Amino acid sequence: MKEDTIAAISTPIGEGGIGIIRISGEDSFKIAKKLFFPKSKVSFEEMKPRTMYLGNIVDDEEKYTVDEVLLVKFKAPFSYTAEDMVEIHSHGGFTAVRKILNLVLKNGARLAEPGEFTKRAFINGRIDLSQAEAVIDIIRAKTDKALKIAVDQLKGKLSEKIKEVMESLLNVIALIEANIDFPEEEIPDATPEIILDNIEKNIKELEALKERAGAGRILREGLSTVIIGKPNVGKSSLLNALLMEKRAIVTDIPGTTRDIIEEYINIKGIPIKIIDTAGIRETKDLIERIGVERALEKVEIAELILFVVDASKDLGEEDYKIIERVKEKRTLVVLNKIDLGLKLDEEKVKALLPGKRIIKISALKDEGIERLRKEIYDMITNEVGSLEEGIIITATRHIEAVKKAVESLKEAKVSVENNLPMEITAIYIKEAWESLGEITGDSIKENLLDAIFENFCIGK
Ligand code: GDP
Repeated sequence: MKEDTIAAISTPIGEGGIGIIRISGEDSFKIAKKLFFPKSKVSFEEMKPRTMYLGNIVDDEEKYTVDEVLLVKFKAPFSYTAEDMVEIHSHGGFTAVRKILNLVLKNGARLAEPGEFTKRAFINGRIDLSQAEAVIDIIRAKTDKALKIAVDQLKGKLSEKIKEVMESLLNVIALIEANIDFPEEEIPDATPEIILDNIEKNIKELEALKERAGAGRILREGLSTVIIGKPNVGKSSLLNALLMEKRAIVTDIPGTTRDIIEEYINIKGIPIKIIDTAGIRETKDLIERIGVERALEKVEIAELILFVVDASKDLGEEDYKIIERVKEKRTLVVLNKIDLGLKLDEEKVKALLPGKRIIKISALKDEGIERLRKEIYDMITNEVGSLEEGIIITATRHIEAVKKAVESLKEAKVSVENNLPMEITAIYIKEAWESLGEITGDSIKENLLDAIFENFCIGK
């Protein structure tokens, strides 16, 4: 059955040079033909696919030109969705794109749901699920490293690896079933050795992927970080010093009840997500104390804590309170204001926070900031491993699927070792295969699909 025809504005709303309206589905050409009048007077049918044509979009009822546009058609299956598609490149801004979209909708298309273009690319078999998900990671990539991994995933590197394991599992399932169904035939024996060999090899492959998952998740989602310290120790100055870097990113994330601003610091490719920036900045206000209280609450969910202390003074009551809370966490101690001289007893801090790295900086004079960045980078890579080359799983959904597959394979291994009937082993291996299939989309439930694509923006 053919899918209906969908349309959406694929560029962000707001003023810009161009705006793009996308149409995909069986009626795309029919709809575009009705609205588009090329300057060169070729008929719509004569227009070459994947070639831009200049022309006018004309309101078919009111008979006036809405905008001068460039239009390109894509003939199935050579398009993003693998369906017939049309892209209309109009002038940017709010009104022209909106108006053109409305005309397209009035002529038979329906508004696309978030991610529906990419979902169709998946459903039509042009890309697999992990590749489709990579699209959103590319859009949201916070650093160049995160981008590279997402692009690798789009190119199918992760799927290739997963499919390799799936195929190997399938081979052993087939071997077991053949032995059960045709015990008389001349087929290789499904000996416990062969089966165990296969299981162990694949567990190893998956464990290797699992090991790098921590790094992957951080690259994709950012490392949630709290900057904590008494009022006036220099938290916002530090934040600004870190953000001053030309590669710093400030993102708006709309779609939540109130628009939150998330600030990301790029530490040599690791996106560091600063939690509760508002809290840091608020310390300027009357409600100064709330700053510390609020940050203390966030300490629990933070993956990294930057504990800022004013080095030009001795520790205060609030510092001790904070120390109690951050002792057991991944914490870097930042002694700020060293330009005023070090009056703080460093040995005391060391004794109170054993094993924690202490970095001396001056946020004001921009001293020690580079060293702090390096400390953060080293700390993270020491724990989660290199963020360089190779296949890295980034999505939590994929990590969970790999973990489930490993568990099933371990069960399979136990069943062989205990000489259970081969049917049982085959069931566990199938389970593992299915878990991995959730990554590629070979075995996936409809509601899960919806949940995945809901994360996309409209028009993608
Ligand atoms: P917050 O309340 O912890 O966010 O602290 P701020 O960043 O607002 O800084 C409080 C005051 O300390 C401001 O007047 C800053 O200019 C000053 N300050 C911050 N960092 C330094 C520093 O490294 N050296 C000196 N001398 N002053 C600093």
